[in-house]
Amino acid sequence: METEILTLSDPAAEERALALLDAGDLVALPTETVYGLAADATQGVAVAKIFAAKGRPSFNPLICHVFDLAQARGLAVVGRAAEDLAAAFWPGPLTIVLPLAPGSPVHPLATAGLATVALRAPQGVAARLAQVLGRPLAAPSANPSGRVSATSAGQVLKGLGGKIPLILDGGASSVGVESTIVMPQADHLVLLRPGLVTRAALADASGLKVRDRATTAGVTAPGQLASHYAPAGRVRLDATRVEPGEYLIGFGPEPVAGQELAADVINLSPSGDPVEAAARLFAALAAFDSPDIAAIAVAPIPAAGLGEAINDRLRRAAAPRT
Ligand code: AMP
Ligand code: MG
Repeated sequence: METEILTLSDPAAEERALALLDAGDLVALPTETVYGLAADATQGVAVAKIFAAKGRPSFNPLICHVFDLAQARGLAVVGRAAEDLAAAFWPGPLTIVLPLAPGSPVHPLATAGLATVALRAPQGVAARLAQVLGRPLAAPSANPSGRVSATSAGQVLKGLGGKIPLILDGGASSVGVESTIVMPQADHLVLLRPGLVTRAALADASGLKVRDRATTAGVTAPGQLASHYAPAGRVRLDATRVEPGEYLIGFGPEPVAGQELAADVINLSPSGDPVEAAARLFAALAAFDSPDIAAIAVAPIPAAGLGEAINDRLRRAAAPRT
């Protein structure tokens, strides 16, 4: 694919970005921290394209960018502490992790299947696009996985050129400091990642104590535990034959031997498209997460491209329970 670069001063730039985002495509854009790789956070295939373009070997939860607190309220349960923090620091480099609202439109791939969502109202074009689109934008840094964050349109092009349709050029971003990430709890804040907004400023704005993640029992970084987010039943990977009564997560056009004896089948992508499969993965695991379901078989999924991240997530679901 050809990668187009438009400067923010070009009157056509935002229109073009909106059309791509609405259609489920990616747009790299400047934020006050680094360049972000943005997708409509409510479209699973769009979010899967982020992981594919970056070549990420695993799914981690992404920060979702919103225009303001009102838009955040449509996505998450915004409590008193979050209101105080947003009033003090939004728009700006503060990310607040909140419980998903019932029926939240944020796609589970954007939260890596967690019951929480990380929200930030940035300054500039990302916020405007989220406002006009009327949907949150999932946007990690616009660089290939494992490489340094891009702070100019030229660096984005070097890393992701040919893999994304559009880069919005807003000049050099003020270098490399990431957003602070904080998670409000009943009577304190948990600092998940230090950043430009300091611990003292967080305490000041909220009137709450700020604790570190490490010292807070029960709070773990997403994806750290091998068996994190596992369904209730046993998960069997690379199944080339279905045992009678097993539930099957399938992939591709070829049925697995014995498939007709499965209790139920969800095919992640009948055409064998890993991007589509990634978009459906978390919903499939959730659908089969029930005390009534004892055994889930998963068809082999090729490791190429996004297949690596899909298999990583499935291995966690299949890992022995502690
Ligand atoms: P970035 O790569 O800058 O987008 O950073 C994303 C960071 O936000 C990662 O460190 C994630 O672990 C963290 N994060 C995103 N969503 C959540 C969440 N729901 N709960 C806890 N941490 C989150
Ligand atoms: Mg990064």
